[in-house]
Amino acid sequence: MKREEKPISSGSAPRRKTHAVAVPGNTGPVIIGGDAPVVVQSMTNTDTSDVEQTVCQVMELVQAGSELVRMTVNTPAAAQAVPLIRQRLDDAGIHVPLIGDFHFNGHVLLQDFPACARALAKYRINPGNVGIGESRDSQFATMIDIACRYEKPVRIGVNWGSLDQALLKRIMDENAGRSAPWPAPSVMYEALVTSAVESAAQAEALGMPADRIVLSCKVSGVQDLIAVYRELSVRCDYALHLGLTEAGVGSKGIVASSAALSVLLEEGIGDTIRISITPDPGSSRAREVVVAQELLQSMGLRNFVPMVTSCPGCGRTSSTLFQELASNTQHYLREQMTVWKNRYPGVESMNVAVMGCIVNGPGESQHANIGISLPGNGETPMAMVFEDGKRKTMLRGDNLDEQFQALILKYVQSHYG
Ligand code: SF4
Repeated sequence: MKREEKPISSGSAPRRKTHAVAVPGNTGPVIIGGDAPVVVQSMTNTDTSDVEQTVCQVMELVQAGSELVRMTVNTPAAAQAVPLIRQRLDDAGIHVPLIGDFHFNGHVLLQDFPACARALAKYRINPGNVGIGESRDSQFATMIDIACRYEKPVRIGVNWGSLDQALLKRIMDENAGRSAPWPAPSVMYEALVTSAVESAAQAEALGMPADRIVLSCKVSGVQDLIAVYRELSVRCDYALHLGLTEAGVGSKGIVASSAALSVLLEEGIGDTIRISITPDPGSSRAREVVVAQELLQSMGLRNFVPMVTSCPGCGRTSSTLFQELASNTQHYLREQMTVWKNRYPGVESMNVAVMGCIVNGPGESQHANIGISLPGNGETPMAMVFEDGKRKTMLRGDNLDEQFQALILKYVQSHYG
């Protein structure tokens, strides 16, 4: 068969058109949706009533690059702490918008603690647990009314672990009446999407403009999440918050989140993301921010920190020197970004290669802005450095780390800003 000759194309589908939601902040709003880049957000896991600890963790998340930070507001003590947390962050020059995560008693807390309602930039409402029956409608209406009064956007965040049971029953009854009932997963998807879309319509009927509504429908299965968001993207034009809920611990959580979110992002679906990984005990909460940034950067959607391309290593390079150099270089680049991002605009898109031997080392290094190809076993003990595709110099000695970092810094100073 004769193949039609045409260039092989790449890149994600155009972003789905959504309302742009402005999340207010002291130094200007963070925009979710519209033409804005996909926003990285995170959530604290401290007791919100502990102002000290929560402020520290928000700072850590912001330092890592979180553009919005959510915190649970579950008790009167937590609601009282929110304005104090806001004040402490403002005093420290950290103006990240804070999002309040409300369940069960959000209508009470927002009413009883107006300073909390004002200090938060956005409210997350879970339509599955704002009440039952008539009280559900009035409690939901109370939260929307307060959000309208303070001109705050909301996220209507459906979660399959706390799905509105009355709505689920209604969808199941409708399914039972079909001549060919749908399979159970499809019924669940329908209930999730319906809950989000109907709750958003209800919010609009109560006076909340569409450009102050973000929707999410979180599940913990990769293919479930993809199915639900594909449908959600067809049924509405609200900005969408993506996240695989309860993704899991360590690499499992990272892989599952990346698998689900990358498919959707590639299809142009998703305006803000959160990676819900369970941190390893004692590890930094900021890991979820780094993973979110790396996911967006790997997909070519945004650049945050220069990326290191490194080979996996094999029998041709048996020393740990190569692994250490790759790891140290990535750490160095991330640390430098606190200064570089203002001083050297554009540096975040720089590519750095660290390769183990001459098989692929020179080739890959030539494709990077700056790259190093280490000597493999039996090769001359010299490391070739390439800049912009051309051989620049040879490095020797025990302190390759420092020598290479000095060359990277020189490259940055001469090419950016
Ligand atoms: S570049 Fe060399 S060391 Fe790295 S994986 Fe390829 S052959 Fe192995």
